[in-house]
Amino acid sequence: MIEGRTGKWETVIGLEVHAQVISKAKLFSGAATGFGAKPNTQVSPVDAGFPGMLPVINRFCIEQAVKTGLGLAAEINLHSVFERKNYFYPDLPAGYQISQYLQPVVGHGRVSLDMPNGTVREIGITRLHLEQDAGKSLHDRHPSLTYVDLNRAGVALMEIVSEPDLRSGEEAGLYLRKLRSILRYLGTCDGNMEEGSLRCDANVSVRRPGAPLGTRCEIKNVNSIRYVMQAIEYEARRQIEVIEEGGTVEQQTRLFDAARGVTRPMRSKEEAHDYRYFPDPDLLPLVLDPDWVERIRADLPELPDARKARFMSEYGLSADDAGVLVAEKETALYFERVAQRRESKVAANWVMGDLFGALNRLGVGIHLSPVSAEQLGALIDLIADGTISGRLAKDVFAEMVASSADPAAIVEAKGLRQMTDSSAIEAAIDTVLASQAGRVAEYRAGRDKLYGFFVGQVMRATQGKANPALVNQLLKKKLAG
Ligand code: ADP
Ligand code: MG
Repeated sequence: MIEGRTGKWETVIGLEVHAQVISKAKLFSGAATGFGAKPNTQVSPVDAGFPGMLPVINRFCIEQAVKTGLGLAAEINLHSVFERKNYFYPDLPAGYQISQYLQPVVGHGRVSLDMPNGTVREIGITRLHLEQDAGKSLHDRHPSLTYVDLNRAGVALMEIVSEPDLRSGEEAGLYLRKLRSILRYLGTCDGNMEEGSLRCDANVSVRRPGAPLGTRCEIKNVNSIRYVMQAIEYEARRQIEVIEEGGTVEQQTRLFDAARGVTRPMRSKEEAHDYRYFPDPDLLPLVLDPDWVERIRADLPELPDARKARFMSEYGLSADDAGVLVAEKETALYFERVAQRRESKVAANWVMGDLFGALNRLGVGIHLSPVSAEQLGALIDLIADGTISGRLAKDVFAEMVASSADPAAIVEAKGLRQMTDSSAIEAAIDTVLASQAGRVAEYRAGRDKLYGFFVGQVMRATQGKANPALVNQLLKKKLAG
C-alpha cells in the first residue's frame, strides 16, 4: 500500500518473463545456441528467414516447456498451436516470429512466495508459451551503421505470464527469485539475467484498495531483479501523482532508465502493434502424448518448496534457514553434503555464516567456492572430535578460503592442534594465577565477573589451543582451592 496525497493506493503488477530454454539447438532449426559466439556463426537458413526453408520443431524444447509447466503446477495443454506474430524489425528476417497465442502449450499454474512475515502468497500463472527469440542489432560497431547478429534468432524462449496478483516491487522481486530458482532446479533455463537468458516486462497499474483494475503501463526488458523492483516503485508513484493531479494514466509501453532510476515513454497504445496472428501453415498443431507428459512428471526433480519442507523435517532447520539454503540449487546440494552424518544446525551455521561471508567478500557463487563441501565437513569433524577448538576453527577456515588446503593439513602445518593434556593446561593456569594474585584474591572475595578474565588469560597463554571445557573444569577447581 502506498500513502498518496489523497489517501491510500494499491499497486497491481503482472509480470511477463522471457526465459531462454536450455537446449543445444534452436526451437525450429539445428543451429547451436551457445552464448558469446562470434556474430552470425550459429545461424541456419531457417533462422535467417530464407524463402522456402521449413521449420522443424525441436522435441527437446517442448519437453523443457512441459517440464517447466509441471514445475509451476500448471495445466499442460495436450493440443496447442504455433502462430505467426507479424512485425518488421531488422533483426527479424522472416518478418514474423513463430509464437503461440490463443492455444499455448501450458495453461494456468502457480508460484508460492514465502513472505518475510512467514506467510505464503500464491501468485497465479496465466500461461506459458513457446516462441522464437529475435536476432540482435549491434549499434556500437560502426559510427554510422547498424549490424545484425542472428545467433540468437530462433533460440527457444518460454514466455511465462503471471496474473496481476503482485502488489509491490518487493513481491515482484520475490516472485522473480522464486521463478528463477524453480527454472534452475528444473534445468530448463539458466536464469542468467546479465546474459539475457531471463528478461522481464513489468505491467504496473494503481487503484484504490478494492477498486477495479486501473490502466496499466508496461515497462519493457528490465535486466536485473533490483531494477525491476525500482522500476515498479517509481512507476506506481508516477501514476499516483498523475491521478492525484487530476490526470489519467495513459496505457503505454515505457523503458526503465537505470542510471536515473525513472521510467519514460517508449510508445503509446495508439502506436501499439497489430500483429495479425494466424496459425503457421508450415507447422502442424502440437499434439502431446499424455503418457509422455506423465513420464516427464514422474522424472521431475525435487523443487525448492518440497526441498525446504524436507530440510525442516529432516534436518530440523527453521523455515528461514531452510528457505535460505534451498534458494539456490547449488547451495542446497552443498549444504546436504556438509550435513551428511553431522550436526545439521552446525553445518547450516557454517554454510550461512562463514562460508556465505567468504563468498560475498570474494564475489563468487558457491559453485566457485575455494572451500569444498567435503573440506568444510572435515573442519566440522575436527571441532567435534576435539582436535581444534571452535575459536581456532575460524582461523583454520580463513586459511582454507585463502589456500583451498585441507583443514587437517593446515592444523598440522600451523601447530593448531588443541591442547587436551590436562597437566599442560594446569601448568598454564598456575602461571596465570600466580601472576594475578591480586585479582585472584578479589575473585575469591566475591567478584565473580573476573572469571572470564582468567579464562581469557589462560587461552592467551596457550595461543588459544587449550581445550575450553578442560580449562573451565581445571580453572574452577584451582580458583575454589
Ligand atoms: P498483453 O498481451 O497486451 O501484454 P495481457 O492481457 O496478456 O496483455 O497481460 C499481460 C500482463 O499484464 C499479465 O501479466 C497481466 O497479469 C498483466 N496485467 C493485465 N492487466 C493489468 C493491470 N490492470 N495492472 C497490472 N497488470 C496487469
Ligand atoms: Mg505484453
